[in-house]
Amino acid sequence: MRVVVIGGGAVGAAVALFLRQRGGAAVEVLVVEADPTLARSSSALSAGSVRQQFSNAVNVQMSRFGHQVITEADAWLGVDGAPVPVGWVPGAYLFCAGAAGVPVLQHNHAVQRQAGADVALLRRDALAARFPWLHTDDIALASLGQSGEGWLDGEAWARALGAKARALGAQWRHDRVTGLHLQAGRLVAARLASGEVLAADAFVNAAGPWAGAVGALAGLPVPVHARRRTVFMMTCPTPLPPTPLVVDSSGCWFRSEGRGFIGGWSPGDGDADPDDLPLDQPDLAQFEDRLWPAMAHRVPAFEALRVQQAWAGYYEVHPLDHNALIGAHPHCANFWLCNGFSGHGLQHAPAAGRGLAELLLTGGFETLDLSAFSPQRVLTGQAFVEQAII
Ligand SMILES: Cc1cc2nc3c(=O)[nH]c(=O)nc-3n(C[C@H](O)[C@H](O)[C@H](O)COP(=O)(O)OP(=O)(O)OC[C@H]3O[C@@H](n4cnc5c(N)ncnc54)[C@H](O)[C@@H]3O)c2cc1C
Repeated sequence: MRVVVIGGGAVGAAVALFLRQRGGAAVEVLVVEADPTLARSSSALSAGSVRQQFSNAVNVQMSRFGHQVITEADAWLGVDGAPVPVGWVPGAYLFCAGAAGVPVLQHNHAVQRQAGADVALLRRDALAARFPWLHTDDIALASLGQSGEGWLDGEAWARALGAKARALGAQWRHDRVTGLHLQAGRLVAARLASGEVLAADAFVNAAGPWAGAVGALAGLPVPVHARRRTVFMMTCPTPLPPTPLVVDSSGCWFRSEGRGFIGGWSPGDGDADPDDLPLDQPDLAQFEDRLWPAMAHRVPAFEALRVQQAWAGYYEVHPLDHNALIGAHPHCANFWLCNGFSGHGLQHAPAAGRGLAELLLTGGFETLDLSAFSPQRVLTGQAFVEQAII
């Protein structure tokens, strides 16, 4: 069997890795990546953070597997015994809720605990005692990860997954898929920018924010949108201890990064969030308009924040429910989707890659049941909503 994987970011690399690990030499895996520098990929431009705090148990379980692969990277991803540096920094997420957000936080907490996550709810007094630098007057409840969370270097992570896939026999092709040829309802070949035509038995769409464009090459809709997110790197002259990744009810988030901080803002319901805004133009106005006021409100010491740098990357948003699409395209049984992670795909790449490989090779899930992510739900409009979206 021959499988062409379109896209060699963290997700495409993980799919390739697990196809070879599960299928062995009987499965020829060819990853086509348009830009081997990964310079515009979401994997390289992400905030690289890993959490256990989701509203759906399966997302918690996917993150727990991702965390396992990260923290045991030498064992999972090592090649010839060499260490695998992915820049892992253990940390924690702190989700803060005002009075209106308490029921959601409590519901999510119950789901997370049941799924094995090590999380604790803190009322205002406990929160203020634990984080004296935090302004807590308008926080009714917060959820703190106690272990199993942190951050890593997204590009190093994608490259480590790719290196292991290669060591297992997957091949990489530096080229762009410019055409997909459908015959009698099945994909039969991919045309590359170089002019080469790759015939295969199965094709995996792992093109991240460009998943919709790849689907369009075959006339097969993939409802994933490239939504720009700007990340600011900041310093603060007022000394502060390292902070967890604070998710504020204002839509802002921030965390320690080295001796400074990174942070950003995500549009909420009712905020404009257009597709395909240029990546080389981070939305610098967001700092003054959104981030700084919210951060200075939450941490008074941040009144003195200074921006050092900013960058932008694309979230690959699946607007129906902000959950991934994992499985065969509803209109084409050998066009496999691994898309739409909506801002949490770096940590879910191993579980998604493993699950897609199982489904493609055996027709079912063998480890974690990912059937809730079936792309069939796009046809029926039956949303599988993830509420803990950042
Ligand atoms: C600012 C920001 C912060 C984020 N923070 C986090 C976080 O904290 N934690 C987390 O888990 N996730 C986070 N994410 C999301 C995460 O980065 C993505 O979910 C994940 O990287 C998606 O990986 P991917 O491999 O699907 O896509 P990508 O990494 O974008 O890879 C897709 C690849 O496909 C290639 N490609 C596209 N079209 C073609 C074609 N026609 N032919 C050949 N190749 C093609 C591209 O060149 C690209 O390299 C964040 C994302 C952003 C932008």
